[in-house]
Amino acid sequence: MTVVTARVLDGKSIANEIQAELAEEVIGFIQESGIIPCLAAVLVGEDAASQIYVRTKQRACQQVGIESKLHQLPAGTTQDELLELIGRLNKDHTVHGLLVQLPLPSDISTSRVLDAVHPLKDVDAFHPENVGRISQGRPRFLPCTPHGIQQLLSRSDLPVAGKHVVVVGRSDIVGKPLAMLLAQRDSTRGPQAANATVTVCHSRTDDLAGITRTADVLVAAIGNAGFINAEMVKPGAVVVDVGINRTEDGLVGDVDFDAVSEVAGAITPVPGGVGPLTVTMLMYNTLEAARLSI
Ligand code: NAP
Repeated sequence: MTVVTARVLDGKSIANEIQAELAEEVIGFIQESGIIPCLAAVLVGEDAASQIYVRTKQRACQQVGIESKLHQLPAGTTQDELLELIGRLNKDHTVHGLLVQLPLPSDISTSRVLDAVHPLKDVDAFHPENVGRISQGRPRFLPCTPHGIQQLLSRSDLPVAGKHVVVVGRSDIVGKPLAMLLAQRDSTRGPQAANATVTVCHSRTDDLAGITRTADVLVAAIGNAGFINAEMVKPGAVVVDVGINRTEDGLVGDVDFDAVSEVAGAITPVPGGVGPLTVTMLMYNTLEAARLSI
């Protein structure tokens, strides 16, 4: 029988706390400016998971008082048609945040499309200009999942300053930007939520377990169900599970939760860990985009 000795970090309730703060800020912004922040989402094709993600984002908009618009395009949409829509939304003054739900159909160039989103509306923080600003420590928008993880740790009173954070995964969406954020000198939650010593691991890393066992904070962003086992975790470490894997047992993370929760000091569950924070930080960025539009 599993004995969960780790503190389970409740991402859902922290996300609710931030959303309540954002809802207040949105009211204040509307009163001052007369502008209702608006997020436009573009969804191409019928991917079931993408449809769920977009609906979750729309629901979050509603909860914080942000308007949302969904542009649903058929699977056969061409790259030019998609670029034409993005061009129109870039010019639409009633739209402040603009996101293109990934993955796109394989005959469309993801980088070509993401590069077309206006940097001032790029609430996913994928545009090279925004990524460059993050790496220079003067961000415009913060990447949603990494910023959510930073908020989750900070609001759980788990400072990372001076700690060894090991990130497994080097994607442009999670691993790389998270490493950049945590290694900065400062953050939206102050210097204690940054200033980490960060190691980034990937599929070519030698002796992965040897490295992960040195982590004070271990982040798994791999996309492989239950990959991180108890032997890979230092006793008392904080374990953040970013993975979302659909299995016969339902949604599971990249961490073997039952085994690791007997070793770790704190752990995020899947679902109910990082996921709700990602959506919430998208709302944060949309309000920021509305502010930047004035
Ligand atoms: P990705 O682009 O597929 O990247 C996966 C990374 O894991 C790659 O860097 C890969 O290394 C590394 N990797 C794969 N197998 C490995 C192994 N055996 N040992 C060490 N590293 C290995 O994935 P992603 O977009 O970052 O997403 C990762 C997971 O997080 C997915 O399950 C995704 O659904 C989930 N996710 C969740 C949220 C959320 O809000 N909770 C947000 C985004 C993503 P290489 O670079 O060498 O191939």
